[in-house]
Amino acid sequence: MELSSRQEKIVDIVKENGPITGEKIAEHLSLTRATLRPDLSILTMAGFLEARPRVGYFYSGKHTSEALSGKIKRMSVKDYQSIPIIVKENVSVYDAISTMFLEDIGTLFVSDSKGLLAGVLSRKDLLRASIGQQNLNTVPVHIIMTRMPNIAVCRKDDLLIDAANKLIEKEIDGLPVVRDSENGLEVIGRITKTTIARAFSELATVHEI
Ligand code: ADP
Repeated sequence: MELSSRQEKIVDIVKENGPITGEKIAEHLSLTRATLRPDLSILTMAGFLEARPRVGYFYSGKHTSEALSGKIKRMSVKDYQSIPIIVKENVSVYDAISTMFLEDIGTLFVSDSKGLLAGVLSRKDLLRASIGQQNLNTVPVHIIMTRMPNIAVCRKDDLLIDAANKLIEKEIDGLPVVRDSENGLEVIGRITKTTIARAFSELATVHEI
């Protein structure tokens, strides 16, 4: 719900001075109590303010859209990342499929002999390889993976919303969280669509701002 500028002002006054009577709010705004009555009842009905008889108006702590977007902009990758599952580039497609099932995960990251990020394997990459004529036990994953430098990555101090936008833009399910290492990138975490769903759900259950 969009608040008018007068309604925003009323919320601010109550935030700072509550509990406060309608009369006193009117004084702050140099208006009459009668003029404010419709705004006060809208704010109370919408849950921004609570009214207690003989006490006055309280700020309910309900998120305004501004407070909510402020909260989103404070969510960073490091607070939500999960553990990455990494396979070596010479493991077979068969073993990568087994790992995907065992770890119950949709995206695997692939590392080179130095332990640096070399590629990504999605469910469909493995599915595509499986319907070909190849022997899954002998084909190494580096043949079929999406490889560096075409990997979209994020870093622990990035905003979660920026990581979410990358997932959308690139139409992918996951991003490795990386840190710079001497000759490449080291994978330290994982952000997936599930991460974003969990963070989104959390926003609805946090009442205090
Ligand atoms: P699926 O292929 O199972 O639908 P994705 O949408 O994540 O899963 O993957 C689509 C393609 O993008 C795959 O070929 C995959 O290797 C590649 N891919 C997945 N994650 C990344 C990433 N972070 N950066 C670049 N490419 C990726």
